[in-house]
Amino acid sequence: MVRVTKTTRGWSSPAKYYQGPGEIDKLPSYTELFGKKVFAVIDPFFYKDLTARLEKAYAGTGSEIKTFQYEFEVTDERIKKISDSMKDYAPQVVIGIGGGKTLDTAKGVADDLDAATIIVPTAASTDAPAIGLSVIYTEEHEHVRARFYVNDPDIVLVDSQIIADAPVRFLVSGMGDALSTVFEARANIKSDSANFVNAQAGGFRSTKSGRMIAELCYDILMANGIKALYAAQNHVVTEALEDVIEANVLMSGLGVENNGCAGAHSICEGISILPELDVKTMHGEKVGFGTLCQMILENTPDDLIDEVIDFCGQIGLPLTLDDLFIPNTDENVRAIAKHSFHSYWEREPFLVTEDDVFAAIKATDQMGREYRETYNIEPAYTRR
Ligand SMILES: [Zn+2]
Repeated sequence: MVRVTKTTRGWSSPAKYYQGPGEIDKLPSYTELFGKKVFAVIDPFFYKDLTARLEKAYAGTGSEIKTFQYEFEVTDERIKKISDSMKDYAPQVVIGIGGGKTLDTAKGVADDLDAATIIVPTAASTDAPAIGLSVIYTEEHEHVRARFYVNDPDIVLVDSQIIADAPVRFLVSGMGDALSTVFEARANIKSDSANFVNAQAGGFRSTKSGRMIAELCYDILMANGIKALYAAQNHVVTEALEDVIEANVLMSGLGVENNGCAGAHSICEGISILPELDVKTMHGEKVGFGTLCQMILENTPDDLIDEVIDFCGQIGLPLTLDDLFIPNTDENVRAIAKHSFHSYWEREPFLVTEDDVFAAIKATDQMGREYRETYNIEPAYTRR
């Protein structure tokens, strides 16, 4: 049952959000609000450099920091092992610095140790940083469950220069994830579905604030997406890039938690039935294509579809199955459509069947191929 069963409105968000170039060096001033013992889980790619940088930042502050290199996968056992190893040290603050899996590990360790959580994403590639849950896997990389926390992170801190230094494809993928936010929010609101605030307890009716943030997320992408890419391609921070980072990380996170997912994320989930192809593309790239599929399925007016496909084409998001490395066979499309029902289609404002989804994917792929031929645009980032 996804429809609201009560009229109570519910809202959730991180307690604090900071974003700007060089913010990571200010971590000591943020962590000392919670205590003097700090533990950081850091992505392997950044581990050596950031450990040295943090040790320098913490020197002489009166606070102490220990670091740990995130290794492999987010499992219950790995989180427990790290937490157990930190029991004697008993940090008051746990910081996660890196990609989604590093951040999810840090959230779990902070929860185990009753410590404050500070989340520092090193790419603006998804809306996960601001949300109070971890996705738990097995050692064989199979999805197990979502581990929900009572609160969203205490602080989300984004160093815009680190985001600007990351591969451009990450930012583009984040825009794909953020692009879905408003269309999924509108579907949930129309169907009066419960949002993801305390989702484990059934969620709430959306607030107007949640709705407006989803709308603003879309407006920011349309106004600044391309300009933000110019900055990211040169690894510099501009006002447009700052706006898009905020849209990708904060507005998209708030938008999904306070409204819910719908068709776009269902398509993304459907693609995971083809594991060898699924791993070749990023979450937001699949969600971007899923947004186009949701719009076709909802029979969205042409002017809005044109605006969205133009945006996707110009920033290099996938427009076709081929952009996602998926051969357009009836067998593949049927498998995606079927598996997509393990997620959020029931949140659309009308009944959606497997045949509807099959048809929407086929028609979206045709639209994307014709768009590519007509405008002769650069290939999607997946194909560069
Ligand atoms: Zn997403």
